[in-house]
Amino acid sequence: MSLDFSGAPYEKDPVYMMAVEQLKEAAQILGLSDDVVEVLRHPERLLQVKIPVKLDNGKIAVFIGWRSQHNSALGPYKGGIRYHPNVSVGEVVALSMWMTWKNALAGIPYGGGKGGIKVDPHKLSPRELEELSRKYFASISRMVGENVDIPAPDVYTDPQTMAWFFDEYSKIVGYPAWGVVTAKPFQIGGLKVRVISTGYGVALVAREAAKKVFGGLEGRTVAVQGFGNVGRYAAFYLAQWGARVVAVSDSKGGIYNPNGLDVEKVMKVKNKTRAVINYEDAKRISNEELLELDVDILVPAAIEDVITEKNADKVKAKIISEGANGPTTPEADEKLAKKGVVVIPDILANAGGVTMSWIEWCHDRMGCWLTEEEALDRLDKKMSENFNLVFSEWEKKYSDKPMRIAAYVIAVSRVVDAMKLRGWL
Ligand code: GLU
Repeated sequence: MSLDFSGAPYEKDPVYMMAVEQLKEAAQILGLSDDVVEVLRHPERLLQVKIPVKLDNGKIAVFIGWRSQHNSALGPYKGGIRYHPNVSVGEVVALSMWMTWKNALAGIPYGGGKGGIKVDPHKLSPRELEELSRKYFASISRMVGENVDIPAPDVYTDPQTMAWFFDEYSKIVGYPAWGVVTAKPFQIGGLKVRVISTGYGVALVAREAAKKVFGGLEGRTVAVQGFGNVGRYAAFYLAQWGARVVAVSDSKGGIYNPNGLDVEKVMKVKNKTRAVINYEDAKRISNEELLELDVDILVPAAIEDVITEKNADKVKAKIISEGANGPTTPEADEKLAKKGVVVIPDILANAGGVTMSWIEWCHDRMGCWLTEEEALDRLDKKMSENFNLVFSEWEKKYSDKPMRIAAYVIAVSRVVDAMKLRGWL
């Protein structure tokens, strides 16, 4: 007899349903039975909290938030907390499941978790935002801890939010609990390089893929969609390592110069004017045109579902490194695999953030501060190894399919093995 979960609040959410489909595909290849899939598709724990905030105008606004702890077979739950008006319980649960696979694939000692508050943080004053953050963390405090569940930033949360979380939790437990959140400001146990680490990792796996496809990165052309912390540092490092970044974009549009862009200059323009289109020495292009440029490497680092069945045939890049979560739809992924394009899946390509979180967590728990070089070296080694493992499995067993399949199969099997060894299955 199994419990009937059909009424679970996340069951009908489209993002959650997609996550379950991906799990089922990997489970089929691994020969996992339906009851094992049933175990894997639900979070171990899911907490919903009410967060009343006293606004500056004296009124009280009530917000809703969640923390989903999907799986802890490989270690404490780990994953970010997002603040966004569209956050839903289904999205949070799906994202927590993706964190389980991402962390398992990254080879770091964590399970998967994710949290979120349904709020538009831009509409709150700094004081209101601090109250919201502290109250949320106090409400989930019994569920988190350096050995239990370790949150981090996600969409619209940042090191300042982590500082409030860290402080609130430390007050509750009565000691400075450095290891309870990661991506903290460097003055209180964080690492300066954490902010660049997701983009650095996206560039790093593209560099490893370029060795396989072209024999190296030197002179290869690159287009990057999105110029936030992921896109800008991916562009920066790819340029540093010898590639020619010819196009970048943000939500206001893109720029293209076949002779190459000066990435550092684009970063300055973006910081000053909040739009890359104000960079002078380039032609303006749309976000859609950027995806179809004749380049060797494409980095979609903005939003989900940008490479679809409609434009997949027009994509000319030979390597795609997914900085964003879910930029390629499953149909497009199949089409690109048939064309021989190497699509480095999000759970592999954008794991630099959480991998650096792990490095920060180790350094906090030992109380031995690492230098920036040491931290980046560790990230480089870990991610190169992971990329090469997934790539060789893919080449050996699934080369007619998307590389994502190989990544999922490795991740799910690691989690299932741990569950079996622990006697959970
Ligand atoms: N939110 C990031 C992710 O989705 C980072 C998570 C973390 O560092 O724990 O990978």
